[in-house]
Amino acid sequence: MSPAVPSTQDHAVPDSKIIIAIDGPAGAGKSTVARHLARHFGLLNLETGAMYRAFALKALRAGVSLDESFALEALAAKTTIHLVPAAGENRVFLDGQDVTGELRNPAVTDAASRVSVFPPVRAWMVRLQQQMASSGGVVMEGRDIGTVVFPHADVKIFLDAAPEVRGLRRFEQLGAQSASGSAQQPEEVIRDLRERDLRDRNRVDSPLKPAPDAVPLDSTKMTLEEVLRAAEAIVERRLAPRPESRPA
Ligand code: C5P
Repeated sequence: MSPAVPSTQDHAVPDSKIIIAIDGPAGAGKSTVARHLARHFGLLNLETGAMYRAFALKALRAGVSLDESFALEALAAKTTIHLVPAAGENRVFLDGQDVTGELRNPAVTDAASRVSVFPPVRAWMVRLQQQMASSGGVVMEGRDIGTVVFPHADVKIFLDAAPEVRGLRRFEQLGAQSASGSAQQPEEVIRDLRERDLRDRNRVDSPLKPAPDAVPLDSTKMTLEEVLRAAEAIVERRLAPRPESRPA
């Protein structure tokens, strides 16, 4: 998908308490779609991956092993994470410090994928995410939103794309974010992304998979504009009042 297309019109949904869950693998375009839907329907956008990244940053800074569940659980008990929705990406506060700019480097990305396999870390994150969205009116994106965090979400979208396409998009995104260009080659980005996918899909606790009632959206051969319109249509279809059943 190419650069974000601004929405021409915003459509606040009549029931502003709705929850839209967007799940899928890395690089499928979840953040772009979630941001767009939030703006379009007048909802808050919450990026749960940023929370796992913030916790991973804390573990790296504290020198805590990324493979020890007990140590990570103890660290989580001393950690606060706040997401502040903004027009673009969420601002992320770790123990009160804005760490948004540090969350996308490859070391943090890899560490987030590793710490997120542990059930105590996930249970803590899920609680935080449920609290943050308790009054509804949100688009929440991640890996387990429709299956675990909000199994009763009003709308669930599972966004996917072929691994090579996701890898290339992620490579371009990294290049666009860093003034000097991405330090990683495209093949490295694709390899890392496959590794993270494998870990997400095969972990025992809350593996990445579509919820049975999620609407699949494969963006491999779609332009950004087409993906955004398709996502809007899914939400509108799900929220449309059902036709009253006529008397016989
Ligand atoms: O979405 P993002 O790439 O920022 O997520 C970083 C990592 O956090 C992912 O690789 C994934 O392992 C983990 N994650 C997760 N569950 C979520 C969101 C992210 O396990 N709901």
